Amino acid sequence: MPMKNVRIVLVETSHGGNIGAVARAMKNMCLEDLALVNPRQFMTEECVARASGADDILHEAQVYRSLDEAVADCSLVVGASARLRSVAWPQLDPRACAGLVAQRAAGGRVALVFGRERTGLTNAELERCQYLVNIPSNPDYSSLNLGMAVQVLSYELMMQRQGRSPSRDSGAGDGVTAADMQGLFEHLEQALEDIGFLDPRKSAKLMRRLKRLFYRADPDMDEIKILRGILSAAQGRKSARRN
Ligand code: SAH
Repeated sequence: MPMKNVRIVLVETSHGGNIGAVARAMKNMCLEDLALVNPRQFMTEECVARASGADDILHEAQVYRSLDEAVADCSLVVGASARLRSVAWPQLDPRACAGLVAQRAAGGRVALVFGRERTGLTNAELERCQYLVNIPSNPDYSSLNLGMAVQVLSYELMMQRQGRSPSRDSGAGDGVTAADMQGLFEHLEQALEDIGFLDPRKSAKLMRRLKRLFYRADPDMDEIKILRGILSAAQGRKSARRN
């Protein structure tokens, strides 16, 4: 598994010290691609101190204005969540997560997304993720420090890398990115509205279920094109092919 294909994404981190701790954990586990979405602080003294020599990771970190931009070129996006949400979203434990990431990183870029120290990831951000990963912990005290959470997940990746020869997954990683999936979802929502199936006031819940379905199906690029062709035809677009 090329570890350079694994991106750690931190969303709106409050404390520079935690970013430093993440950089250190990443370098320990041979990861190097750090993306920061609107960090509240970044290169503070504490950040550099806690990076403890992993300065190269900090210097090369990319700063983005939105999660969408940070994961746009990723073919798999996994969100780390301390709490199991009421919505049943595909869930992984850290080991299964490492297995999936290893498989998919062989053919494309993969993002592991971590939330804010106080409030984690929003529901909208979680919906940007194909899967959620939860680190099993005390149900009454489940929230790990951000750096520790990155450490656990990247350790499992390290174990995965040591335990197995690089795998190549035939179907996955054929270039479908998060942006392609978003394009499909937006088209689907519009088409469902156009044909009168979707009541815009109640669309959120249905769209969540449909996204879950399509993430599970893990379509390749040809399949996405077919689906979008069907949607265009349903919308009555001229560009749609007719028999
Ligand atoms: N209080 C927040 C947790 C913030 S901890 C909440 O309840 O959601 C900061 C981030 O570390 C989380 O957003 C998550 O990405 C990660 N994290 C912390 N504990 C975790 C756990 N048990 N499993 C998976 N990720 C965890």
